[in-house]
Amino acid sequence: MPFYKCPICNQYDFPDTHKCPPIYYFKHPHWGDEFQKIHASSFENAAEEFAKIYNEDGDYYLMDNEEIVIISNGKIEKTFKVSARQSIEYDIKEIIKELPDEKKKEI
Ligand SMILES: [Zn+2]
Repeated sequence: MPFYKCPICNQYDFPDTHKCPPIYYFKHPHWGDEFQKIHASSFENAAEEFAKIYNEDGDYYLMDNEEIVIISNGKIEKTFKVSARQSIEYDIKEIIKELPDEKKKEI
């Protein structure tokens, strides 16, 4: 059974067993004074999901300790500092070179 992207919460899951995560709300100056709805599994996950939306274009410098207010459906409010970091991934590939003739004799 293939993964699908849920059109409501935008998460990838199996269509038969998918259940959208609970709703949280965030407020950030980029969206004005209105709280925005977001699906997440926890307050921390909601802050992370905010970061993904806010940083959609990969402008990591914008993610320099953004302050974000998250509110649950139960009206509990928590404030988080959100930042992002770039990660470097290294590619290693062996270069096979021919041995010079004198080295071949030694082997
Ligand atoms: Zn969903």
